[in-house]
Amino acid sequence: MIKEVRVRFAPSPTGALHIGGVRTALYNYLFAKKSNGKFLLRIEDTDQTRYVPGAEEYILEALAWLGISPDEGQGIGGPDAPYRQSERKPMYKAYAQQLIDAGFAYYAFDTPEELDAMRERLNKAGVPNPQYNAITRATMKNSLVLPQEEVKQRLDAGDAYVIRIKIPRKEEVRVNDIIRGWVLVHSSSLDDKVLMKSDGMPTYHLANVVDDHLMRITHVIRGEEWLPSAPLHVLLYKYLGWEDTMPEFAHLPLLLKPDGNGKLSKRDADMHGFPVFPLQWQPAGAEKTIGFREEGYLPEALLNFLAFLGWNPGTQQEIFSLTELVEAFTLEKIGKAGAKFDINKANWYNQHYLRGMENSALGAILKTDLEKKGINTSLESAQEIASLLKERITFAKEMVAEGEYFFKSPKEYDAVLSQKWSAEASEVSLAFADKLISIATETSAEEIKHILHEIVENQKLKIGKVLQPIRILITGKPAGPDLMQIIKIIGTNEASERLKKGVEFANRV
Ligand code: GLU
Repeated sequence: MIKEVRVRFAPSPTGALHIGGVRTALYNYLFAKKSNGKFLLRIEDTDQTRYVPGAEEYILEALAWLGISPDEGQGIGGPDAPYRQSERKPMYKAYAQQLIDAGFAYYAFDTPEELDAMRERLNKAGVPNPQYNAITRATMKNSLVLPQEEVKQRLDAGDAYVIRIKIPRKEEVRVNDIIRGWVLVHSSSLDDKVLMKSDGMPTYHLANVVDDHLMRITHVIRGEEWLPSAPLHVLLYKYLGWEDTMPEFAHLPLLLKPDGNGKLSKRDADMHGFPVFPLQWQPAGAEKTIGFREEGYLPEALLNFLAFLGWNPGTQQEIFSLTELVEAFTLEKIGKAGAKFDINKANWYNQHYLRGMENSALGAILKTDLEKKGINTSLESAQEIASLLKERITFAKEMVAEGEYFFKSPKEYDAVLSQKWSAEASEVSLAFADKLISIATETSAEEIKHILHEIVENQKLKIGKVLQPIRILITGKPAGPDLMQIIKIIGTNEASERLKKGVEFANRV
């Protein structure tokens, strides 16, 4: 029987979910769906000192906004509940005990001062990065060194202790990574990591491995920053007797700064003004952090952009719906090299998906945005305007500013006007203005175009010579959507007035 694919996204609720985490969630989702498997959400909150209220809700909301909600997990439920590690605390203890009993872990009673003293001693002796390991443990206060009786006494007396893994002194640890191939690490470079803290909470390492096992996770897909922990995890699977069902690993490439120099950070985002979080985040009393959603990015655009940060389909195709991504996605096509975070690409995707939006949806957005500015229009006219503007914007919220001339006569004219202004332009504009009031208000754009062309031809001119100045008189701007459509929407009387006022201005300067 083929095993059901089960993957998990396992964020720690320490604040807003970074965009790299969203990409991890997306790749897990894509892989699960592609394999007809399950996508789980587990909240890794064993480090209570880093717990931030609201972070868990934020994670769920972000995944829901993007349409990549988990099948099982925190906030959803499922057969392996609870999915919040702090609520699974009693489960981990038994496994730590199993490791101690089998000789793969031990109690350590060292106080923080004793640990500091050890590091200081070794630093003085020229050891650059002193660790609690196969060599130094012999000099410390732990159950491998202290007489059995003393260990028992200390435990009975309730002395504070941690449980550490006993890393072998000389052993090669091999991790098979789907993206990187075999990664070999010598155990002498690993330290005796704490598995259980003195408060009885497991550390990330123990909880992560135990839960992946209990939740029958088949593939661990996570960020590259966890690769150094993978050898320790492999040893834990082995020591717990779970080697046969150990998940496969896939460590995703880092997200890099726009220039490719170093890891993408919140500081880059602040510096360049682009978001690195899916949703806006503002914990009580703290500064606001901007999010893709509030900045006006469409979920489809963000998904498409993120999918390509580290993965590509191996073809020229760049536009993928979520369903198409599921179809095309394979872990094998994920690259090893870091992916540059190029916000221009995200904008490009947004422009694309915005153009694909229904005019009715964009019209509704425009209508609401206008109302906020005290301008009322019919939904019908908002839709018509949106249909003309959507080719010219990256975000829906830009429609109001981009199309200001639909609602207001221009207050100033683009500088191109004076360069292109001529006696002919003045004459044509006035003649056009006169004609426009004489015709019915409900005229078609075709009819308006015809009128203008007739005037131009009568004067033996070329339309190219006068069209741009006329556009500037009416809209203030040197470029925009079809001018005849604009005139139709603002109305022939309004257009006529703007022309007259504009000609007066242009002839004065
Ligand atoms: N809790 C870890 C994190 O916050 C999860 C790492 C993993 O997926 O194993 O990223």
